Amino acid sequence: MALALYDTMAREKRGFSPADPKRVTMYVCGPTVYNHAHIGNFRAAVVFDLLFRVLRHHYGAEHVVYARNITDVDDKIIKASKETGEAIGAITKKYAGIYREETAALGVLPPTLEPVATGHIAEMIALVETLLAEGFAYAAEGHVLFAVGKFEDYGRLSNVDREEMLAGARVEVAPYKENPADFVLWKPSKADEPGWESPWGRGRPGWHLECSAMIEKALGTTIDIHGGGQDLRFPHHENEIAQSSCAHKGAPLARVWLHNGFLRMGADKMSKSLGNIVLPRDLLKKWPGEVLRFALLSAHYRQPLEWTDELVENSKRQLDKFYRLLAEATDAPVAAKPPQSIVLALDDDLNTPEAIAGLHELRDIAMQMQGEARVRAIGSLKAAGALLGFFSVRPEEWFKGAVTDGPSPAEIDALLAERAAARKAKDFAKSDRIRDELAAKGIIIEDGPKGAAWRRS
Ligand SMILES: [Zn+2]
Repeated sequence: MALALYDTMAREKRGFSPADPKRVTMYVCGPTVYNHAHIGNFRAAVVFDLLFRVLRHHYGAEHVVYARNITDVDDKIIKASKETGEAIGAITKKYAGIYREETAALGVLPPTLEPVATGHIAEMIALVETLLAEGFAYAAEGHVLFAVGKFEDYGRLSNVDREEMLAGARVEVAPYKENPADFVLWKPSKADEPGWESPWGRGRPGWHLECSAMIEKALGTTIDIHGGGQDLRFPHHENEIAQSSCAHKGAPLARVWLHNGFLRMGADKMSKSLGNIVLPRDLLKKWPGEVLRFALLSAHYRQPLEWTDELVENSKRQLDKFYRLLAEATDAPVAAKPPQSIVLALDDDLNTPEAIAGLHELRDIAMQMQGEARVRAIGSLKAAGALLGFFSVRPEEWFKGAVTDGPSPAEIDALLAERAAARKAKDFAKSDRIRDELAAKGIIIEDGPKGAAWRRS
């Protein structure tokens, strides 16, 4: 076993070995649930799902603990509630549910643990008390702030100096801050805002605090892997490190830090603030979730990936090729182990372009075989797909597709039944008319020994 991962902190690819192979721990910063996530947000969900699968392959499913949090208290949620008049609890429940459903459609396995911020207020208050007692934080005007100057390693992960950070963060200069770079651990809540009683008055946590508190509670002091999108390196992950390390006598928060690159729209990063976002909700009306997963994994996770219609269409075409082969032997048993070529590619810092090239090679090999050998090769391809999170759809369903245009499968089946009846009654004019009608809507009928099958052209 030789899994190697690029560690953002060390700035190099290193062999991965967990502190305890019987309990490999991974934490990834999850969604803030106040509206629909965009496909750029889903890149992290899919990339770290793939790493979760690779870890489970190496260490056994029962030995990997993956926690991905849900942020359900945040100024953006409060704003959404004020704008819509909907209760905060109703908003967060609704969008957490949608996030789970949509990520599942992309083949993302549920994480082992899904801690929510509002379920960990006591742990967060305890953490702030520790930081105050150790002299890393100070209370002022109902706020508690982390004194960045007290933590020597601040900025090591993102590798920018403090002056640059200040310029980049556009931190709000507040009278209660001793240093403009200090960040909020706890802040007061107005009467119409959610709040919890604390030693510093009724208030709520700053955003960064929850991850440190939940990581400690769910996984421990030092975890094996911490992941997230590269935009989280600063300030979010720097602040997580500052909070956790200083509360734990300098113990590192994570042994390996992984960050995925941006999804781009043209020259820009896809982001809500730029308004150039594409929603999985809309994409899933047109494409199977697996096509979106394939598109997101088509580039190496650290590289930027440009999201285009062409990328999605090309991903569908590639998957169609695999599914056409899989359709030949739908009952071929899945090989006990995924092929070595795929495991090696993924062990090399999740080299998905190489793994996808490996899938095409496996397909080419299978296509040159006959009989039992061909069925075995298809089983091998299935095992490779399972590791990557592909080929989870039955081929006959795959070619029916998830589309909004054109007739539904039920309508097509009804027309096919009508056509079969017409053929039986030797009314060939009618059966041809139905076939032409379906063809005009992009439905191709293939008559076979077991009756007519159909697919979308
Ligand atoms: Zn976090």
